[in-house]
Amino acid sequence: MAEKFKAVPFSERLVLLPHCMRNVKQCKAVDEGTHYSCVKCGGCKIAQIQKLADELGYKKLYVMKGGKAIYNILVDQKVKAVVAVACHFEGAQGIKMTDSLKVITQFVPLLKDGCYDTDVDVETVKQIMEQK
Ligand code: SF4
Repeated sequence: MAEKFKAVPFSERLVLLPHCMRNVKQCKAVDEGTHYSCVKCGGCKIAQIQKLADELGYKKLYVMKGGKAIYNILVDQKVKAVVAVACHFEGAQGIKMTDSLKVITQFVPLLKDGCYDTDVDVETVKQIMEQK
């Protein structure tokens, strides 16, 4: 889907990150119910990704609490493309969903998964986000 992804304007793309990447000891993100909105406190790598999303003009970045709410977000916002970070299991489930909705997806698996303190290669995420 890489070529199709490049054709979608930044303003039509979402970033979906898992909440387990947050630094829960110092996170100042706003709890929005189904997800968090990062305020770039700098406590975890999400701040770097949020900063780039803001600079490029991405539609929104969601720090998701779980995968089930993603369906409603994608449908309600008529999203055309997503950059998604998750563990392999959640990623596989998510790709089935985005495929069924015809949402173009670029998936970056976590380097370290688990329920908290997870990690991702931010440079890989940034490279994908910047593609056009
Ligand atoms: S950078 Fe964002 S998600 Fe990470 S700890 Fe700070 S407010 Fe929370």
